[in-house]
Amino acid sequence: MSILKTKSLKKYYGVEENLVKAIDDTNIDIQEGEFVAIVGKSGSGKSTLLHMIGGLDRPTDGNVFIDGNDIFSLKDEQLAIFRRRKIGFIFQYYNLIPSLNVWENIVLPIGLDGKDVDKNFVNDIIKSLGLDEKKEVLPNTLSGGQQQRVAIARALVTRPSIILADEPTGNLDSKTSDEVMSLLKSMIKKYNQTLVMITHDETIAQMADRVIYIEDGKVIKGGVIND
Ligand code: ADP
Ligand code: ADP
Repeated sequence: MSILKTKSLKKYYGVEENLVKAIDDTNIDIQEGEFVAIVGKSGSGKSTLLHMIGGLDRPTDGNVFIDGNDIFSLKDEQLAIFRRRKIGFIFQYYNLIPSLNVWENIVLPIGLDGKDVDKNFVNDIIKSLGLDEKKEVLPNTLSGGQQQRVAIARALVTRPSIILADEPTGNLDSKTSDEVMSLLKSMIKKYNQTLVMITHDETIAQMADRVIYIEDGKVIKGGVIND
């Protein structure tokens, strides 16, 4: 089943001679449970695409469908709610809150949504990510790899339809990158999550079920399954 689709998606910056077609007429289709990597050189449009897929940035033209919902038909406020319910984000620099301990960082998105914390589920995630001993410590006492595992847990706790990761290993050495990616992959397969990840690292990209190649704002390969 298709969980994420873009239709003739475009994002242009500037005008006339300064016009930049950051994303130009892009169609991609991602299935439920798929792990997809988006690969391209710096400036090819990866971040622009991910931001639109995640509803963080509105397109110049075209549509993004998540679970069949045309997300940009929503007003900003509704879009923010949709995003919190349906999408989990993982960033290169973790974006943890320094004054909150690991447990509090992880359950934060649940609190924002006003739901009760399912402690068994949260503890299950924490255990699978090897953070059992770290629940009460502050993020700045953790290594980069551990901090990214906390960020992964935080992205999973709301059981989002899709997890979007922006260069999740961009700040980690290659051994730690492999460890974090193996864990992330096993977690999303365990919970049957869909993962879309940007990377410029071909080795990391090869861990995905499918690679979408992007060049100068256009998908050149892999936009749909078996392409
Ligand atoms: P990538 O993530 O692959 O490095 P980006 O999506 O960041 O690529 O950028 C794609 C293109 O759009 C680049 O040419 C970049 O300079 C341009 N761009 C991105 N954001 C803006 C912006 N806010 N204003 C103008 N140009 C932008
Ligand atoms: P109960 O509702 O059964 O009293 P607890 O409050 O004891 O549950 O917490 C259950 C689990 O959540 C335990 O594993 C505990 O370590 C963890 N936990 C709850 N709140 C925090 C917190 N602020 N910091 C760290 N761990 C927490």
